[in-house]
Amino acid sequence: MRRGVLPIVGSRIESVDCPPCLRRPIQIRPRIDAIDRRLRGHTVSGIGRRGKRVMIEFDDGQVMVIEPRMTGLVLLADPPTTDHLRLRIVLSGGPCEQLLFWDRRGLGTIRLLHATEVISIVDAKLGVDALQITADQLRQKLGTSRRAIKVALLDQAAVAGIGNLYAAEILYLAGIDPRTRCDKLTGPQWSRIVRATGEVLELAISHEGSTLSDGTYRNALNDAGGYQNYHRVYDRAEKPCLRCGGTIRRIVQAQRSTFFCPNCQRKSGLHKSVVADGTLE
Ligand SMILES: [Zn+2]
Repeated sequence: MRRGVLPIVGSRIESVDCPPCLRRPIQIRPRIDAIDRRLRGHTVSGIGRRGKRVMIEFDDGQVMVIEPRMTGLVLLADPPTTDHLRLRIVLSGGPCEQLLFWDRRGLGTIRLLHATEVISIVDAKLGVDALQITADQLRQKLGTSRRAIKVALLDQAAVAGIGNLYAAEILYLAGIDPRTRCDKLTGPQWSRIVRATGEVLELAISHEGSTLSDGTYRNALNDAGGYQNYHRVYDRAEKPCLRCGGTIRRIVQAQRSTFFCPNCQRKSGLHKSVVADGTLE
């Protein structure tokens, strides 16, 4: 998402509004008229990311924090439907006329912050980014937790940026049973988790995310992502494991689906499934 909206850097804000939408409003703070007043005439100076949030930075230090949650999309092209449009930023002086936030389920949130608020409101609530965290840092955060590793990897205060789909893929690549308690994991297992995290997220980013069978996720140009073609376990319940031919299982942990191979992801973690080039043995 961040890469997709980079073309608006340098564009000027003409106005910000909420297009007519009959759905229950999403959480936008402050009120839209205050956002419009604060941003008019300012220029987009950068696009950042904190965990799973897109950060639109402005020339005076203000930052718009967009958290898409389950079904939110940040778009430079026409939206999938005209319904469910939640926010529109009209732009000038660049290649795009507008940036849109579209959200079918409406769980996404938008906040406009002053520069001084970013640390206390965003950064303080997030752990080290998943693409930067070291095995030592992750172990320090979670190594004494009794939670299952799959549940703990979704805790954004422990490590920022891992979503449900990716947690399942990471643990498959690391060869670790998603039900394993964090305090039972060994040093080499933490290292494998961090290596697998980099592998999975970098590949997912290069394929612009996963567009599942519900078709919701789209990139900034309203095109499907491609990472769904690389899923090894996610949404593959009862299908054969690509590594051992066994059967992928689906379980529920903390109200979220988990997919794993009981054969390749043994609790004992004795086998090595990540080799030097990151592919499966
Ligand atoms: Zn397997």
